[in-house]
Amino acid sequence: MDKPYVSVVIPAYNEEGNLNNLMNRLLPVMRGTGKSFEIVFTDDGSRDGSLRILRQMAESIPEVKVIEFNGNFGQHMAILAAFEKTSGDIIITLDADLQNPPEEIPKLVAEVEKGHDVVGTIRMKRQDTVFRKVASRIVNITTNKMTGMQMSDYGCMLRAYSRGIIDNINHCQETTTFIPALAQTFSSNPTEIEVAHAERSEGESKYSLYKLIRLNFDLMTGFSVVPLQLFALMGIMTSLAAVAFAVFLMVRRFLIGAEVEGVFTLFAILFFFIGIVIFGIGLVGEYVGRIYQEVRRRPRYVVRRLHGFEK
Ligand code: UDP
Ligand code: MG
Repeated sequence: MDKPYVSVVIPAYNEEGNLNNLMNRLLPVMRGTGKSFEIVFTDDGSRDGSLRILRQMAESIPEVKVIEFNGNFGQHMAILAAFEKTSGDIIITLDADLQNPPEEIPKLVAEVEKGHDVVGTIRMKRQDTVFRKVASRIVNITTNKMTGMQMSDYGCMLRAYSRGIIDNINHCQETTTFIPALAQTFSSNPTEIEVAHAERSEGESKYSLYKLIRLNFDLMTGFSVVPLQLFALMGIMTSLAAVAFAVFLMVRRFLIGAEVEGVFTLFAILFFFIGIVIFGIGLVGEYVGRIYQEVRRRPRYVVRRLHGFEK
């Protein structure tokens, strides 16, 4: 088969209820563009019937290719593995749960054709829980502040990239990463457009609260050392405040006499600082942990088999 013009990348983890609907909407859209394309799925160690459905698609639909992971390595690793196998000039990422309407793809392609190397998206009328929306807003604002990047919506995975960006990403060997932020660091001419967003059509979100926190820690610590610097700054301010407090206690001792009843106030203050210290150790640990992961140089993911690549 000739080199495709557009590569669509879709990670799937236990998505058996969505895959057929997804293809029923995605294929007409892609065929409608009149351009050549490929659809690269990564099965991220699904334990339901997803892999069986995907393998059937790889056999019956010429454009479909499937990477079968050896276990669950996470959405971002699944996308990275697929990136390495794509050959299109324009690469689109998409979720398998139909939260990102495939009908928006031609808009994204048009933006790349205008010369933008990264096309981000903003979810209009986002269909998620209030908790997720509020959390996302906080993450978006702090990430932009810390990394100096400008993106309105880091979470939306319906995005388009030029071949050059993907080549750069393929050269990175980080074990934990956040793809939209990584792409943004390589981009020289990014843009953002608004896209529709739907509720998850079948199944449940694959992100537990714990996984979400982990992912956002990757985003925060993976792209900036500002948290460490802020923390050092906080340490200095704390010491200064403590010195001021000691001076105050001394002056008070001369003027009024030794203070005894305030002991519990001191305890309260102490616990506050102990909390900060524990948080700081955890934060440093987060960076050390990342360094540890990198130096082990373990494979980031393990591909068990490829389906539909030799056509
Ligand atoms: N996903 C994956 N591996 C995981 C978790 C999720 O490949 O460990 C895929 C999932 O199948 C979906 C996409 O990543 O296609 C987004 O996941 P989900 O819809 O659960 O996330 P949410 O929309 O709740 O942020
Ligand atoms: Mg989803």
